[in-house]
Amino acid sequence: MNLQNLVRKNIASLVPYSSARDEFTGEAQVFLDANENPFNEPYNRYPDPLQRKLKQKIAEIKNVTPDKIFLGNGSDEPIDLLIRAFCEPETDNIVTIDPSYGMYQVAANINDVSIRKVPLSANFTLDPMTVLHAVDLHTKLIFLCSPNNPSGNNLSRSAMHHIARHFKGIVVVDEAYIDFSPGNSLLPDLDRHKNLVVLQTFSKAWGMAGIRLGMAFASPEIIGILNKIKYPYNLNILTQEKALEMLENKGQVENWVATLINERNRISAELEKLDQVKTVYPSDANFLLVSVENAGLIYNKLVEKGIIVRDRSKVNLCAGCLRITIGSPEENNLLLEALKNINLA
Ligand code: PMP
Repeated sequence: MNLQNLVRKNIASLVPYSSARDEFTGEAQVFLDANENPFNEPYNRYPDPLQRKLKQKIAEIKNVTPDKIFLGNGSDEPIDLLIRAFCEPETDNIVTIDPSYGMYQVAANINDVSIRKVPLSANFTLDPMTVLHAVDLHTKLIFLCSPNNPSGNNLSRSAMHHIARHFKGIVVVDEAYIDFSPGNSLLPDLDRHKNLVVLQTFSKAWGMAGIRLGMAFASPEIIGILNKIKYPYNLNILTQEKALEMLENKGQVENWVATLINERNRISAELEKLDQVKTVYPSDANFLLVSVENAGLIYNKLVEKGIIVRDRSKVNLCAGCLRITIGSPEENNLLLEALKNINLA
């Protein structure tokens, strides 16, 4: 892979915006360089454009160097930036698995980049050869998602390695749910595959969907391209501070994850016992894909009881399926109780 040939020409030659905080970093007595208001500390100041303190902390936890980290406004930001950096509108395309997370398609559509969807095999497994066959000379990115949304399963590591080894473009592995499947991340393989980008997020296991903080891990060269085209101050001070505070509470997050994994197993077993449930698909995430009799009716009955799940019936390979997030034990009991009392007759 030659990154300079892969990136769009206008991005390769782009002179990025240089902010006041890019031109001077460090401590000083008086800051008169950014047209800020001197009052209302600390929110009067622009945030660190490269989020150095936060990256240092994340680097320790994830066991990577800070220059391999990009932080964005949710993982949705790096998804969009990767497409914008590498795909020429109207010409290039991305390859994704199907079914998977909807934003790959939306981000491609917004950027006028076409998308080639490769159906997963039965039980949502990944056949690397089918994915590679979908690639043509204009394919710049392949998006994989493991554990996959909405199916919940991990994709095969060897299949993902095979794709990363043989594809001449960038392979993005979205690991939004990886904390619920410890030990299965491709993060330790970044040095092996220079074309690999791993996405993770604070929205799931970390319980911080509201602060919008996503991570992309990749070679310093790929991270450099994302940094070049992002909004100068893409992460606000509140997000950076809250994340730093949460990173001190890693033990809390581990407890939540353990609870949610226990609950996932319990709910899965309980759902299997219900007449209206046909299949509970195995999950490595914090949700279950469940095939039921009459998904639309069950969805509506649950809404009447104030319980909202996601009807995925119209998604490829998910006919008749609901996607159910694992909630607190109390919330899950309410769901089970409601389902037991739904009469389909
Ligand atoms: N990737 C996947 C697979 C997801 O399911 C989601 C959210 N549902 C995201 C990314 C978005 O994450 P974020 O909140 O970090 O934008």
